Amino acid sequence: MSYITISRDNYFYNLNLVREKVESIDNIAVVLKDNAYGHGLETIAQLAKEFGIDRAVVRRTAEAKIISKYFKYILILAPEFIENQNNFYYTINSLDDIYKYPKNINIELKVDSGMHRLGISPMQLYFALNLIKSRGLRLRGFFTHFREADELGSSLFVQREHFNLMIKDVVNSCFNDINFHSNNSAGIFRSGKKIKNEMVRVGIASYGYILGNSALKFPELKPVLSLWGEKVGELKYLKDGFRIGYGGISTVSGEKYISIYDIGYSDGFRRLPENIIKNKLFRTPDNNYVLGKISMDSMAINSNRDEVEIFRSASELAKIFGTTEYEILVNLSDKIKRIII
Ligand SMILES: *Cc1c(COP(=O)(O)O)cnc(C)c1O
Repeated sequence: MSYITISRDNYFYNLNLVREKVESIDNIAVVLKDNAYGHGLETIAQLAKEFGIDRAVVRRTAEAKIISKYFKYILILAPEFIENQNNFYYTINSLDDIYKYPKNINIELKVDSGMHRLGISPMQLYFALNLIKSRGLRLRGFFTHFREADELGSSLFVQREHFNLMIKDVVNSCFNDINFHSNNSAGIFRSGKKIKNEMVRVGIASYGYILGNSALKFPELKPVLSLWGEKVGELKYLKDGFRIGYGGISTVSGEKYISIYDIGYSDGFRRLPENIIKNKLFRTPDNNYVLGKISMDSMAINSNRDEVEIFRSASELAKIFGTTEYEILVNLSDKIKRIII
């Protein structure tokens, strides 16, 4: 069976770099939304705990329930239901959300400081704070998500300044012990100094990638996930000129072995474009290549090994598909077994 390996060393290496950018390990929250970016929700929760991290961020309440025992704090970005657990923190994304929560639930207010996606607008802040207060709700956090942390320019700093002003409004409204936070991976590494008095929410960097303009001088990180396929068959009687797979887009020419491996597009490994296959432009870490189109459950590779590592870094695939490493990783099926190495 195909499987995914998760490198503990690499995960810890990346987290150590984040650790150097904050005051205390308690200020790090690992972002585990969407099956921990395809790495496996519980697998990564376990490792983060082992590293000494107590805080996590997920998208759904159902995800929070799965990892509840690992963390003292779990921020839920888009809750689909409410359950009273003292380590769950629910995001208020709009004024309407404020009416959904009873008094005994931890809530955090998300403001839109320029991303124009989710969150209440700065103009609604005063109203929102008053509403929270008059309803007697338990406001425990206040945060934003920066739009352009990974792009060159001053926009990040404008957003941060804007957020700082809003923090003052919250403090002036007499809410105490509020967890203020704003930085994602790119924000963490763009900050020249250690980040003080703020929790950070680290996603992609913990998994070994940091996107952004090369002029930003981000550190080298180590990819954590590797995808492996298992041999389910071998093509016999190879002869130059034979054509392979649907449409026969590849032709045998000098390959000694060609085997079928049990990874296909149903596993979340997207169909490579024809020109990439024909010209053998996608290479595995052992410099093997795919022959013929990728099928739903399998692909052919010029190897006879029982197991083949299909990719170790999502960056090459992201380039081929004109997308980001986030998208390549998050699409990997949760049915594939994750193994910590
Ligand atoms: C996804 C997400 C993050 C993590 O972003 P990365 O770029 O992966 O570090 C942080 N905060 C919020 C609100 C998010 O939705």
